[in-house]
Amino acid sequence: MKTPINIFWYRRDLRLEDNCGLFHALTSDKKVLPIFIFDEDILNKLPKDDSRVTFLHQELENIQHQLLEIGSGLSVFHGKPIAVFNEVLTNHTIETVFTNHDYEPYAIQRDLEIKDFLISKGINFKTYKDQVIFEKDEIVKKDGTPYKVYTPFSKIWLAAFKTQEIQFFQSEENLVNFIKKETHQFLSLADIGFTESTIKVASYKVSKNLIDTYEETRNFPAKNSTSKLGTHLRFGTVSVRKMVDKASKSGNITFLKELIWREFFMQILWHFPHTAKDSFKPQYDRIVWRNNEEEFKAWCTGETGYPLVDAGMRELNQTGFMHNRVRMLVGSFLCKHLLIDWRWGEAYFAEKLHDYEQSSNIGNWQWVAGTGVDASPYFRIFNPTTQIQKFDKELKYIQKWVPEFQEFTYSKEIVEHKLARERCLKVYKEAVQ
Ligand code: FAD
Repeated sequence: MKTPINIFWYRRDLRLEDNCGLFHALTSDKKVLPIFIFDEDILNKLPKDDSRVTFLHQELENIQHQLLEIGSGLSVFHGKPIAVFNEVLTNHTIETVFTNHDYEPYAIQRDLEIKDFLISKGINFKTYKDQVIFEKDEIVKKDGTPYKVYTPFSKIWLAAFKTQEIQFFQSEENLVNFIKKETHQFLSLADIGFTESTIKVASYKVSKNLIDTYEETRNFPAKNSTSKLGTHLRFGTVSVRKMVDKASKSGNITFLKELIWREFFMQILWHFPHTAKDSFKPQYDRIVWRNNEEEFKAWCTGETGYPLVDAGMRELNQTGFMHNRVRMLVGSFLCKHLLIDWRWGEAYFAEKLHDYEQSSNIGNWQWVAGTGVDASPYFRIFNPTTQIQKFDKELKYIQKWVPEFQEFTYSKEIVEHKLARERCLKVYKEAVQ
């Protein structure tokens, strides 16, 4: 019989340092084989030059280089997770598979199936909290029910955080416990049927200055003063514990509160998985959306005639990123001015955003549409013209993304603001009263 080993299954935690599940694997009493699976059920839904797949592949290469230097290596597979584990089992005797928690509905179902499969083969499946500070029902009301409003959630989150030291996991100090391997299965992008994207994921910046000045600067898209951390938290190329530690040491906790928004929406999706498809407030699913396909196309391509909306959509299409202020405006414009179902906008963002995170995307889309927990009230309708005065007075952001913009010659507005506002109020009111 072959010597038993343990597996560490990488998913959305692509780093060697401060990785909780990896730490537990490497400090177990067996040598560890790290693996990554390109899940065909996920890949099949993506365009072949998806920039997130390019990014993910590069990050796997980074890990691979570091492991090769110490005589170890990552094994990369392509297929359905159960089939891959079957294949791994033909070559190895496995005692335990270690991995980190994933809270999305698809991942929860996948992990349940993998757990059953492994247990049926006499293999342990151990999973850990890694991508958040507080997960699942760690922050709930006194009666055990989940918070549906951000402010009390954040207060309890901060209070719980203050009473405990952040525990880091020194996985990087235990790398000698990876198996020394002669051969490594590493797949190229072409092996998984993809090509390299020309759009690159921006690197993140979380300096003391950024955190200290975040509150004053974060609302102005032309300043480019936010961290760009979203994608890195999504793929785990950075440790959330390290970011929260930094953010909590500033005298100004506005940036920390954004990281708490991320956890707020994660626990909402975990407690209420049906909100991935349904409006949180069921009466809002009675809204009679117009869902005009031509108007949707104009919104997607940034040709609505409202320059700040158009600038945001063009930034998204060209870079895979859009500033939060502008995300709120384009989201509100789609649902309220055009009366297009928030699910259409959510799906478009899911396809384009580098930092796409199911819980944050759904939570924020339901927020702008007024259909979600703690949502913006439906009668609050952003005016896409006065928003320019507030957030891009000098038109710097607009000129960057809509260079042809001139006040009197720009394309005609797709819908008149006053008319759209009244139409929206009428349709929403009919649905919810
Ligand atoms: P920063 O401003 O530097 O904030 C730091 C981090 O805090 C972010 O990276 C993110 O992890 C977290 N954060 C900040 N604001 C929010 C928020 N409102 N909700 C949840 N987390 C937040 N964020 C995503 O991470 N993924 C999404 O798919 C996503 N979809 C969105 C859709 C809409 C319609 C709207 C209005 C917002 C969405 N957001 C989403 C939230 C927010 O716009 C982005 O997190 C932020 O713009 C990312 O840029 P940054 O990393 O520079 O953020």
